[in-house]
Amino acid sequence: MSEPVPLDELAAQAGRVRVAVVGGGVAGLVAAHECAKVGLAVTVFEAADRLGGTVRTVELGGLVVDTGVDCIGLQPAAAGLVDELGLAEALVEPGEQTRWVVGVGQATDAATRARRPGVPAAPLPGEAVLGIPENMFSDDCRRLLGTGGTWRAYLDRLRPPLTIGHERNLAALVRSRMGVAVLDRLVAPLTTAVYGARPDRIDVDVAAPGLNAALTRAGSLSGAVAQLRAEKPPAPLRGLVGGMSRLVTALDARLRALGADVRCGTPVTALEADGTDTGWIVHTTGEEFDTADDAVVERFDAVVVATDERAARELLAPVVPALGVRPVASVPVETVTLVVDAPALDAHPRGAEAIALPGSRAAASVVHLTAKWGGAGRHAVRVAFGGPDTVPATAALDDAAAAELARAEASVLLGVELPAPVAADRARFTLAPARALTGHEAAATRVRNAVEAMPRLAATGAWLSGSGLAQVVPDAAATADRLRRRALFGADAAS
Ligand SMILES: Cc1cc2nc3c(=O)[nH]c(=O)nc-3n(C[C@H](O)[C@H](O)[C@H](O)COP(=O)(O)OP(=O)(O)OC[C@H]3O[C@@H](n4cnc5c(N)ncnc54)[C@H](O)[C@@H]3O)c2cc1C
Repeated sequence: MSEPVPLDELAAQAGRVRVAVVGGGVAGLVAAHECAKVGLAVTVFEAADRLGGTVRTVELGGLVVDTGVDCIGLQPAAAGLVDELGLAEALVEPGEQTRWVVGVGQATDAATRARRPGVPAAPLPGEAVLGIPENMFSDDCRRLLGTGGTWRAYLDRLRPPLTIGHERNLAALVRSRMGVAVLDRLVAPLTTAVYGARPDRIDVDVAAPGLNAALTRAGSLSGAVAQLRAEKPPAPLRGLVGGMSRLVTALDARLRALGADVRCGTPVTALEADGTDTGWIVHTTGEEFDTADDAVVERFDAVVVATDERAARELLAPVVPALGVRPVASVPVETVTLVVDAPALDAHPRGAEAIALPGSRAAASVVHLTAKWGGAGRHAVRVAFGGPDTVPATAALDDAAAAELARAEASVLLGVELPAPVAADRARFTLAPARALTGHEAAATRVRNAVEAMPRLAATGAWLSGSGLAQVVPDAAATADRLRRRALFGADAAS
């Protein structure tokens, strides 16, 4: 057995290891923090002029609003990070959590539509898993399903559970047990809003572990939902007083205190092996170097790529031959956040969020931010455009036209004619695939294995972990842990 390395020697050794983290979203900042904590010399390269990526808080019309991420699921790793950063006191419970579906049950003939103007809307039942209701006879369910749909859903309680076996495809499971009304009106809006995917692309065993086993025990899908809700309540969702960017600011401060070099406005344009098999040449441009036209090169011992999928594939493909060429699964989305003086919104007419029946409108959904996080009289609403298979309807519009489209869509979805906004903000983001997408985990593992087969190279971010901070945080921490072991103790240490 070799002698253990003395601690002071280990610390000196760590300080000589230079790690480049490419991307200053939450994934990159968490990975950088994990490396800096053990004394590695960390440099973060962020292309934009601010850190945070999809986490973006702005002041708009006198309100502090989150235009991207507005809450965090308190699964253990995410809760641990919030605690570690001293932000637990700033966590805030949403005032409203109900989601409404808008556009269900609209009359198809013009005469009836003229008699009953307005777009029908109803809340999604809260007692549900993935939109699958525990009680199809609740008022909310019956409003959304209609009489025929409700009775078809009830058949679930009468049919033996084993008629379909263990079904992992969410759409097939729901259709066969409860019928198309439950699938189209409850489950599809929910999965489209939460996972950015239709139910036929969702793997039940990843999205709701234990549901299939509970189905066998309970004898019905609705019974399984009741069992699962009792056994495994979902992790609470929380916002942060002052906006989610506080998470980013706190990580940035910790990094700087640990001596990390955090550079915004510095896109990494290429990676290159340094020829010795022990390090990487990082190519950047950017104002930091005052050489916008010329690439600047710097040598690092290890690199973590933590950008969005498109940028990551561009950087990794030339240096990771086994990566393979695959279509980018992440999609562009836009949010238009409006601040409006609209006392009619004080009543929170659509709870926290109004979801358009998938494919029925230009906008995908509206989050009523002030219903969720507090406020009256002056309100903030965030309208989302685009998603899988849907280019954002705002993509070709100028800012004024995008704001007007958002106002019109929000008026319909919230059921309140909104006035011209006091202020508007438009943001473009990338939506990564959900972890629960069929085949996602296997594909991500293949990428990870190919990347980590290269010396001291790693990749993390929502495109690998699955979208959502509850996935991004533990994945970034685990990826950084493997890399720092490899950087400090050699290739075998990672496992
Ligand atoms: C509209 C919207 C709302 C969401 N709301 C929530 C929510 O409420 N709760 C939740 O948990 N999740 C939410 N998500 C998902 C969550 O935002 C993401 O999963 C997570 O923030 C992704 O973090 P990331 O660091 O992997 O990627 P990103 O946040 O995309 O960060 C990647 C960073 O890499 C930088 N970069 C790209 N190329 C380069 C380069 N060449 N060189 C240097 N830097 C580069 C980018 O500028 C960016 O800052 C939401 C997503 C969207 C789109």
